Amino acid sequence: METANLRNIAIIAHVDHGKTTLVDAMLKQSGTFRANQQVMERVMDSNDLERERGITILSKNTSVHWRGTKINIVDTPGHADFGGEVERVLKMVNGVLLIVDAFEGPMPQTRFVLRKALELKLTPIVVVNKIDRADARPEEVVDEVLDLFIELGADEDQLDFPVIYASARQGSTGTAPDRIEPTLEPLFNMIMAHIPAPQVDLEAPVQLLVTTLDYDDYVGKIVVGRIVRGAIHQGEQVTLIKRDETYEKAKIGKVYVFEGLQRVDVPVAAAGEIVALTGLTTANIGETVACALNPEALPTIEVDEPTLSMN
Ligand code: GDP
Repeated sequence: METANLRNIAIIAHVDHGKTTLVDAMLKQSGTFRANQQVMERVMDSNDLERERGITILSKNTSVHWRGTKINIVDTPGHADFGGEVERVLKMVNGVLLIVDAFEGPMPQTRFVLRKALELKLTPIVVVNKIDRADARPEEVVDEVLDLFIELGADEDQLDFPVIYASARQGSTGTAPDRIEPTLEPLFNMIMAHIPAPQVDLEAPVQLLVTTLDYDDYVGKIVVGRIVRGAIHQGEQVTLIKRDETYEKAKIGKVYVFEGLQRVDVPVAAAGEIVALTGLTTANIGETVACALNPEALPTIEVDEPTLSMN
C-alpha cells in the first residue's frame, strides 16, 4: 500500500551550502510556524547558537506539511565515522535533496553519503543553492554534479535528476536559473512529483529498525526509526530482536512523530512514519522492534564499516 500523503527525504549537503537556511524556509513557507510562535523563537535561537559555533545544529528530524502531505526531513551525518549509520539513516527515506552551492559546486566530503544514497536506489533532487550569488555558475555546477553521479555509479533514472535552483536565504526557487519565483513552491512540487511515497504493509506484524538513539532527561532513552510495516501503539508489548538474534520482551512507552522541529506524542503511528519511541531502555542501534507474538528481524546493517578508504 502506498502512503500517498507522506514523503520521507534526507538532506545531503556540504557544510555552509545552506541546509539550515533551506529547512528554515521550508518550515516558514509551509506555515509550520504559524500555529506556534514559540517554535519560531526557538529556531531563531538555535540559529544564533549555530552562528556562534559555526556548525549546524539542525534537528536530525524535522517535518513540514505541504498541501495535506507530510514531508519528513532527515539530516544525514556530515562526517560519517561509520558507514552503518549513514546506511541506516538513508534506509528511512525514499529520496534525497542534494544541496550544492551554486559557486562552490559539489564537495568531496559529501561523496560517501551520496554514493550510499545512489546505491540504495534513492531518488535524488539536486538543489543548486545560493543562486543569488554574484559569482554563481549554476550550469557548470550541474555538470559537475552529473560527472560526480556518473563516477559514483548512478543508474539512468538517477542521472536524469531534476534540478531546482534556489536562494534559500530569499526563500525563492525555480526550475531554471532565469525562472526563479519568490516561493519554495517549485521545490515542494518537485518533491511531491519525484519522491515516491513509502510503499508499506499496514496489516503485517510491526517492524522498526533502531536507526538512531537519543536521550532526554525526562523520558530517558529514545529510539528513532521508520516503521517498516504494521503500526506501533503507545504502551504496546513488543519483542526487541538483538543483533545476535536473541529475543527480549519490551514495552513501548510513548510514540512520538515529528512535527516541525518538535516531537509530538500520538496514540498510534503507522508504517512509513518516522517515530521516536520511549520505554525501550535496553535497545541498541541496529536491533529490530518487532511484534510481541510474531517477531521477525529486519536485515542487519554493518555498524563497523570504516569509511575513509571508501571516499
Ligand atoms: P548549512 O551549514 O548547510 O546548514 O548552511 P547554512 O544554512 O547555515 O548557511 C551557511 C551560510 O550561507 C549562512 O551564512 C547563510 O546565510 C548563507 N546562505 C544560505 N543560503 C543562502 C543563499 O541562498 N544565498 C546566499 N547568498 N547565502 C546563503
